[in-house]
Amino acid sequence: QTQAEAELISKFEVLPLYKPREKFSHKGDFGHALIVGGSFGKMGAVNLASRAALSSGSGLVTAFIPKCGYHSMQASFPEAMVITDKEEECITNISFDIEPSVVGIGIGMGTADKTIKALELFLRNNKIPLVIDADGLNILSKKKDLLNLLPEHTILTPHPKELERLVGEWSDDFDKLKKAKVFSKTHKVIVVIKGANTITVLDDKLYINTTGNPGMATAGTGDVLTGIITGLLAQGYEPIAATIFGVYLHGKAADIGLEDHGYQSLIASHLIENLCNAYIDLF
Ligand code: AMP
Ligand code: MG
Repeated sequence: QTQAEAELISKFEVLPLYKPREKFSHKGDFGHALIVGGSFGKMGAVNLASRAALSSGSGLVTAFIPKCGYHSMQASFPEAMVITDKEEECITNISFDIEPSVVGIGIGMGTADKTIKALELFLRNNKIPLVIDADGLNILSKKKDLLNLLPEHTILTPHPKELERLVGEWSDDFDKLKKAKVFSKTHKVIVVIKGANTITVLDDKLYINTTGNPGMATAGTGDVLTGIITGLLAQGYEPIAATIFGVYLHGKAADIGLEDHGYQSLIASHLIENLCNAYIDLF
């Protein structure tokens, strides 16, 4: 039996993935998402991703950030728990005494030498399911041997520049997809090629998303996606299901947000506010 090489993802495809909540469920049933990132001046990325993780349905969310973000994070997002690095302005030692079900890492993190060392040590010592974005990807591009440390089906969410750093320059769109497939197979990871019609790549298979709009071309929307996928993984969605469903919900939330905010004024926070409507729109 041959499988279609590319599948379009619309409501029809994601609906069977949806996990309804049981009446007697409690927050422990929906996992604990840990969001690791931030640096001086870039703490908002962690705020966005943490809020998105909770709004996607994760039971608990903890943010791991440099010290300087502690008060702003606690004040702006009371539902989250916060753990700080010992360093003020960047991440230098990713250690914690909680047991997260999944870690979303890399957003706003910077690529300081101390942070690169911290990520390497973390990857060597942990086998927790991972979503890696932004500077986490940039660090993997700088130190490609770290790719060998990733747990199977780690989810990488590069925008075009981050993808180019990972897989090298491509000559055309076919070549880009070919390179992404080879990368996915070689490292046993899921690659989310972000853009208009985001494409998720696993081995030879492509999943082409149909939601989303150019209003999403604005700061922080990628951080929201990292949070959504991390939150879905925390709830027990399989990696490929969490990715496809997360990309779909993210785009749908933006499509609904467009009705109130329009292309120019849509911002990343509106995507989080409309995640509820993306879920409601499923039924
Ligand atoms: P980032 O560059 O990491 O902030 O990610 C941007 C997010 O917005 C990704 O999820 C993209 O897929 C999405 N995005 C950016 N531009 C567009 C566009 N023109 N149409 C649809 N989605 C977009
Ligand atoms: Mg980004």
